[in-house]
Amino acid sequence: MTVLDDNIIKAREYMATFREGGVLNHIAGESVPCLTGETMDTLSPVDGSVLAQVAKSGAKDVDHAVAAAKAAFPAWSTTPGTERRKILIRVAEAIEARAEEIAFIECMDTGQALRFMSKAALRGAANFRFFADQAPAAEDGRVMRSPTQMNTTSRRPIGPVGIITPWNTPFMLSTWKIAPALAAGCTVVHKPAEFSPMTAKKLVEIAEEAGLPKGVLNVVNGLGETAGKRLTEHPDIRAIAFVGESRTGSMIMRQGADTLKRVHFELGGKNPVIVFDDADLDRAVDAATFMIYSLNGERCTSSSRLLVQDTIHDDFTARVAEVAKRIKVGHPLDPETVVGPLIHPVHERKVLSYFDKARQEGATIAAGGEKIGEAGCFVAPTLFTGATNDMAIAQEEIFGPVLTAIRFRDEDEALALANDVDYGLAAYLWTQDLDRAIRMTDRLEAGMMWVNSENIRHLPTPFGGVKASGIGRDGGDWSFDFYMETVNVSFPRAHHKIPKLGG
Ligand code: NAD
Repeated sequence: MTVLDDNIIKAREYMATFREGGVLNHIAGESVPCLTGETMDTLSPVDGSVLAQVAKSGAKDVDHAVAAAKAAFPAWSTTPGTERRKILIRVAEAIEARAEEIAFIECMDTGQALRFMSKAALRGAANFRFFADQAPAAEDGRVMRSPTQMNTTSRRPIGPVGIITPWNTPFMLSTWKIAPALAAGCTVVHKPAEFSPMTAKKLVEIAEEAGLPKGVLNVVNGLGETAGKRLTEHPDIRAIAFVGESRTGSMIMRQGADTLKRVHFELGGKNPVIVFDDADLDRAVDAATFMIYSLNGERCTSSSRLLVQDTIHDDFTARVAEVAKRIKVGHPLDPETVVGPLIHPVHERKVLSYFDKARQEGATIAAGGEKIGEAGCFVAPTLFTGATNDMAIAQEEIFGPVLTAIRFRDEDEALALANDVDYGLAAYLWTQDLDRAIRMTDRLEAGMMWVNSENIRHLPTPFGGVKASGIGRDGGDWSFDFYMETVNVSFPRAHHKIPKLGG
């Protein structure tokens, strides 16, 4: 038996409860079907088979979950930060203990390769540990003294919050939102993506087994336009943290307007990796290919536009094409696999449509550009060359293992090309010239930039985008600014003169 065969058997065991009982909602500590009993399928990206039936919730299910989060809020928000810390550390430990189970389920539900998902489960635990450690000081503020007053600020958890997540790396992403919300003292209703609901349910079960009180974290499955919409409109939900497409973000902003929702958006990207001819090209090839072909290219910070100086363009893109052609595409549970199947036939159709667009627009397909096999959503790692920045393949987020290369002459042109998109999430810059790096990073329109590096996250740093890529920042204390309200209390420092009116 191969390692893959062994892994497939294990994954079946890990998913047995979902296969037999479905992926239910989790409200006030109980696993419950939705009120109508309706379900939807979650499919295997490997062969399109049905992995499990998922609760297809409506507005009333969301209302129940919000009521549970509201009921749990007074106790959780007043639980001392030191106590919340202990509970959340236990959650982190429980995630670590079940990392393999989480990773295997995630691979089967999303098609992401095990070599990346095993780390993603541990990153989820790291998110819990990091924010747990911040919990004791989360409500701390500042003292500001004027001549007459002493002002003290402090922070309070904003209330029950809604968290809406996408399907690309759902476990890691959800913990990135849920952990700071819980550390801040908020209670949560989580609406996972309909394409990949399994690990959200695992997370709440693991968290409650580790001691998280019932009702503090609730999960409602269902479609975005019904369950998700109701969550964004619910008057008892104080804020919505959303990760997903830019146009969904716009919808959520409209839906939340009547109840004046605070929103935090992590949206799409079309991130440039800019390579100058003075760069360490070996490292640049590795980083550029890693950032587009890892995680199936279904990654908001993927380096999906390769801007290369014309002096090195042909050699550099030839090297990238070589890497793309050598990448192993295969079953997500095969430890050798780099690119697994895309999440769903709907998404696969979208990605494949860009192969046609590239041909119509006159770009060259230097690698890939085709579906692999009949069964499952397997797509070859792809490189387009000869593209110009006005093409759809250069402007639109494809969200697959698909890279569009564009040549530039000099710094000004590189900058103009990099900034000439709606998005502004991340940018990657390769040059040995420090002055140029400073000039470029000063003017690049992106929320996050990495110089001579792939995306390496450090949890205390701010994460988020500009332009159509988002509103707000996560990470470090920025997360608490979102999940908490800052209040100011002013005391007199002396008997100052109060204006007398009316006499
Ligand atoms: P999506 O916007 O289609 O869906 C995301 C979530 O929103 C799902 O749970 C969905 O059910 C829900 N939703 C859809 N319509 C809704 C509505 N009207 N009201 C409330 N909720 C609604 O995104 P996706 O296709 O699942 O994910 C891919 C996108 O996510 C890409 O654009 C990617 O760049 C983005 N993303 C961004 C980041 C980041 O940090 N910036 C990270 C990962 C993914």
